Amino acid sequence: MPKKPPPADRITRFAPSPTGYLHLGHALAALFAARAAKQAAGRFLLRMEDIDAARCRPAFEKAVYEDLRWLGLEWETPVRRQSEHMDDYAGALDKLAALEVLYPCFCTRKEIRAEIAAAGNAPHGPDGPLYPGTCREIEPPTRKERMKTGLPYALRLDLAKATALTGGLNWTDVEAGTVAGRPQVFGDVVLARKDAPTSYHLAVTLDDHLQGVTLVSRGEDLFAATHIHRLLQALLDLDTPAYHHHRLLANEAGRRLCKRDKALSLRALRAAGKTPEEVRRMAGF
Ligand code: GLU
Repeated sequence: MPKKPPPADRITRFAPSPTGYLHLGHALAALFAARAAKQAAGRFLLRMEDIDAARCRPAFEKAVYEDLRWLGLEWETPVRRQSEHMDDYAGALDKLAALEVLYPCFCTRKEIRAEIAAAGNAPHGPDGPLYPGTCREIEPPTRKERMKTGLPYALRLDLAKATALTGGLNWTDVEAGTVAGRPQVFGDVVLARKDAPTSYHLAVTLDDHLQGVTLVSRGEDLFAATHIHRLLQALLDLDTPAYHHHRLLANEAGRRLCKRDKALSLRALRAAGKTPEEVRRMAGF
């Protein structure tokens, strides 16, 4: 029998996608979440965000465990792997469909680009130009017909309908304080992709609730995403954790580290003879 974890007020998590080797920026995020749990005698969880079957690799997942252990981190098991919980995401999509805040989107990227170009200028959000809403206008009977043809479609959130249901929402960031929710900045986001029956926004929000996470710590590049997550919490009746969006590490060119910065992968640093203590210090710990 696995040991039942002790009750804790603070539950944090590190949630990497196993699409490459972890780098120094991931070390910062993982150490940050683990420290926040430890300081409050809380629990630290690990989650594999592996919904993207085309990009995730078992070897990268194995490397995540190895690299984190090498750094000196310990986490609770079992690790939640999103790919094993598609039923949970399907259930959440059913609830949203029942609220009539979802619609199928048949557009290809190319069609969306063309539509935006034809419109002249489209409003931009954190992820680029906003979806122009083409498929939102399709009448329900036509929608149903098209869905039956086997044409691939994504499911998008009808943002105007969703926010009309929830009204204004706030969330709390440890550094920024009370933040007024502005999900409008994303437009009608995709909640189920054509190639995966969920999306980052849906899976992360539902998982944080299901895992009882009370403090979501992650890089400040995801600050705006929290507007959407807060809206999903309200629609799906989920708990709202506190958030702590932290600084990001930059590479020599001053740009945010990414998986292409191979020299700063934890593997490369280890191969270059760095000790875990040195790497922790490089990450600011
Ligand atoms: N899986 C995301 C990433 O690797 C992190 C998600 C989150 O912390 O909310 O960037």
